[in-house]
Amino acid sequence: MQFTDLGLSAGILRAIGEQGYDTPTPIQAQAIPHVLAGRDLEALAQTGTGKTAAFVLPILHRLTHHEDSPLERVSQVAPRVLILVPTRELAAQVLESVRTYGKHTRLRSLAVFGGVGMQPQVQALRRGIDILVATPGRLLDHLGQRTANLSHVQTLVLDEADRMLDMGFIRDIRKVIERLPAKRQNLMFSATFADEVRELAHGILRDPALVEVARRNAPIELVAQSVIRVDKERKREALLHLFDTHGWHQTLVFTRTKHGADALARKLEQAGVRSAAIHGDKTQGARTKALADFKAGKLAALVATDIAARGIDIDLLPRVVNYELPNVPEDYVHRIGRTGRAGAEGEALSLVCADERIQLRDIERLIRRDLEKRVLPGFEPQQAAASTAPAPAADRRAQPKGAPRKPAPRPGKPGARPEGRRPGQPPKAGGAAHHNGQRHR
Ligand code: AMP
Repeated sequence: MQFTDLGLSAGILRAIGEQGYDTPTPIQAQAIPHVLAGRDLEALAQTGTGKTAAFVLPILHRLTHHEDSPLERVSQVAPRVLILVPTRELAAQVLESVRTYGKHTRLRSLAVFGGVGMQPQVQALRRGIDILVATPGRLLDHLGQRTANLSHVQTLVLDEADRMLDMGFIRDIRKVIERLPAKRQNLMFSATFADEVRELAHGILRDPALVEVARRNAPIELVAQSVIRVDKERKREALLHLFDTHGWHQTLVFTRTKHGADALARKLEQAGVRSAAIHGDKTQGARTKALADFKAGKLAALVATDIAARGIDIDLLPRVVNYELPNVPEDYVHRIGRTGRAGAEGEALSLVCADERIQLRDIERLIRRDLEKRVLPGFEPQQAAASTAPAPAADRRAQPKGAPRKPAPRPGKPGARPEGRRPGQPPKAGGAAHHNGQRHR
């Protein structure tokens, strides 16, 4: 199947060609014909599957293709397509996709989200918009001030619907939907089909086509997942050791709390690993800059909370580290979905301490498999955890025991930190013999 088989218009095909895509991803191949035909859609697809283009491409086609299109009656100012997303980052990224794929059309698009001034959004809305991407809260602000008009919306997209529900947007979503014309096309994308997602779908979608590209609640197959057992108080040291020995770059590190993200980013930075934190308390400017620096390879680590990381789209993100496991097992699936994108392999490592047994068990149940467990030589947990397996042989073979450590180069301050263990951190019992100098992999 080629993009040309899908019946998309020439300008859209040209934009896709310019992106270097030659074949539609499975979600695109399955969803695009339904959307073009005007049907409602319920799609189970995770980030990284090409889901954004799966709705953006046919929407652009329908907005620009006048014959037999129900969307041909052009309103002067009010948007005809509304794409609701959970976070500002995702809003910005979806807008970028709309503009990239729509660059040979004359369609006008805008994203409205919180954390930035209302006024520029108000002015852009007044000038006229065809495709509006929005987070629910900010959209309601505009509706309240009558600066947005949804009475011409003919297609509604709920992107990452599961996450919007997790974030407590259900009432906002319902309020927005009350403002839409009753007759419209509805497209819903979700990484999981939890019960609440199904309930929302039943309330909104009419006779939807069902499209499913991933096994239910399964993480992306391309991600190599493993668990490193480590004591809670040595996690930071273990993480630094991993950065050091592997020369990691572009590593997305997840913490559970905003405070934890800030503290970890600061400590990594102090230890010579170029880092920034991103979470909901950061200004939009700080978040945008951190993400841009990370994408540009200026940061080795971006430390993020679950909500902030939602929708981050970086091509070929090599690695995700769960510094702490999430309490909600579905978040694990979302986290590791940041890597292994669009056909590239990724790695997801979780540093797991004894306190996190329950979270680990819940994750393994959700993904229906046992994660490989290992220990880092020199960081063997002292607190017993039932199923700790020894590190696989492959992990120890690269250098003989006691070989001098040669840290790989990494961006930032080379040699800022002394070799070996952190100052003031005595080796743990049993770890001294092979504390320095293992390469793991
Ligand atoms: P998404 O799942 O929408 O976040 O998309 C994941 C990534 O895949 C994005 O970086 C897209 O640019 C890329 N992508 C989308 N469609 C294709 C395609 N047909 N071929 C190659 N890459 C694609």
